[in-house]
Amino acid sequence: MDTALLACCCGRSPAKNARFGQSEFLTDEPRISLEGVGLARWSLEWPDWFQVPQLLLQPPWSLTEQQARDAIFLLLDSVRADWAVELRSDRNVSLAWSDLGIQRQQMRLSSVESGKLRFGEKRWSGKTGRRVSLLANLLMKGGFTAEQTVKQSVEALRVIWETLRQCDELAPSASERLLITVEDARRLNPDWWRFRFVADDDAINQCDTCGRLQKVSIRGVCARQTSRQRCPGALRQLRRRELEANHYRLLYQAELPGSLRVEEHTAQLDKEKARQFQREFREGKIHVLSCSTTFELGVDLGNLDTVFLRNVPPEAFNYAQRVGRSGRRSGCPGFAITYCKRGPHDLYHFAEPQRMLTGKIQAPVIALCNERIVTRHIAAVALSFYFRAFVGRFARAETLFIDLVAPRGVADFKAFLVSNRPAIEETIRGVLPKEMATQLALSDGSWIERIAGEDSRFALAEAEVSSDYKNVMGLEERARNKRDYRTAEWAQRRADTIAKEEVLSLLSRKAVIPKYGFPVDVVELDTQRTQQSQEAFEVSLQRDLSIAISEFAPTSKLVANKKEWTSYGLKKVAEREWPRRS
Ligand SMILES: [Zn+2]
Repeated sequence: MDTALLACCCGRSPAKNARFGQSEFLTDEPRISLEGVGLARWSLEWPDWFQVPQLLLQPPWSLTEQQARDAIFLLLDSVRADWAVELRSDRNVSLAWSDLGIQRQQMRLSSVESGKLRFGEKRWSGKTGRRVSLLANLLMKGGFTAEQTVKQSVEALRVIWETLRQCDELAPSASERLLITVEDARRLNPDWWRFRFVADDDAINQCDTCGRLQKVSIRGVCARQTSRQRCPGALRQLRRRELEANHYRLLYQAELPGSLRVEEHTAQLDKEKARQFQREFREGKIHVLSCSTTFELGVDLGNLDTVFLRNVPPEAFNYAQRVGRSGRRSGCPGFAITYCKRGPHDLYHFAEPQRMLTGKIQAPVIALCNERIVTRHIAAVALSFYFRAFVGRFARAETLFIDLVAPRGVADFKAFLVSNRPAIEETIRGVLPKEMATQLALSDGSWIERIAGEDSRFALAEAEVSSDYKNVMGLEERARNKRDYRTAEWAQRRADTIAKEEVLSLLSRKAVIPKYGFPVDVVELDTQRTQQSQEAFEVSLQRDLSIAISEFAPTSKLVANKKEWTSYGLKKVAEREWPRRS
């Protein structure tokens, strides 16, 4: 079934259709176009008024009528490869050359055989041009010498040009001609070209030398003839299904999304956003996830087609964890590719990949005796007792601290611990390694000071939240006095966000209770969340102290969720400032 030039891709807008059709027609990558890989072909629907020139039917050419038409088709097809094509589109669709994404500019075809060409012109019959080469090759198969063939070919092109011109005079209108007149040159009229898909069983001609696929074959001549590259190969006919596998043909035939959506997934994402990305990835709405090591353990994404590592992992078990995420579905082998950077570690493993592939895998280790992490677990156990007794406090920052200007969250908690010490202590003892119980002096009650004392994480968190709140409330008041209502409104929203933060999120963000990945020291880059700035809610910028000291230093920039974040200052917490040197 022949399809009209621009109707080959249903379901798109006319403008997109037109762009698709034209850019396929005018491709500057012919080898990987639909036609180049054998999935489609272009042909000419000859207008009634077209007549084959007699010259081609007589010696030395001696072509049949069909061969003569095929030869002129190949000549005009080579004009297409010279981009001497007029742009046509439906009346309601505007189309410009620049819309097509073609590197080359639009050309015109000149019949001038020698002398200088003007800018943007190609010769129809230049002695060294592809059209002369094509015809000359055809004659050579008849046993003529090279010199004779060039002369004959130039003459034939002259006659074909003249025949085309005379036939086109018979067209009902100038816009229906095979070649459209542009100034004193010509361009192909794409309206006469037809696109059709090639089926598995369709016959196709392939050059035995350069591999070019060609719709028609005249004496087996390959039409890949340019001034730089002349192919001496011969065509052989075969079925499309017999062609060698081609990467691009497979891509065209695969059901790929029209565009790829790429998102990033790191520990810097807010939990909600991270969950959303995981869900959308599983549902196939996100095609590529750029991940940090958060994916090494823990997060399950189901089956992956391909894992691309942007460096060599530190150890064999990291490597196994990462690449092992692909190829879990039966019948679908996984694919993992590792990019080796120019560093000693990567270069070493590039030279000796076996070490990474067969290396020993160490059993994972959890340190049970880190004082800070254990402290957070004690805090979690104690807080669970507290919240069971005072359910109302377990909601938001404002219910936990009661009054954000003069908070009493820590004081109330501490009083509760003191009066319920034996029961809580017994539970804690049940989950703690023995040596830690001794080290943290569990029996003398000083653990209460550790989790609810003046220097505890909880007290620090309370001071920070309260200080933030007082700062924005102060800002609100000052702005309102200056009638700067925009700032006042921002400050009000910010205060609201602080007051409404969920207790669990607050306690984990401030490292009062344990966090995923068991970091030892957690430093936060405060993104000043308000309802206005949605982006600030989508990231959660925290680092271990050792990294934060450089990554979060004022003026440094970091990227999270496709945005660049700049640190601009150190946050001071009232009454918790570092001592100053005088
Ligand atoms: Zn060839």
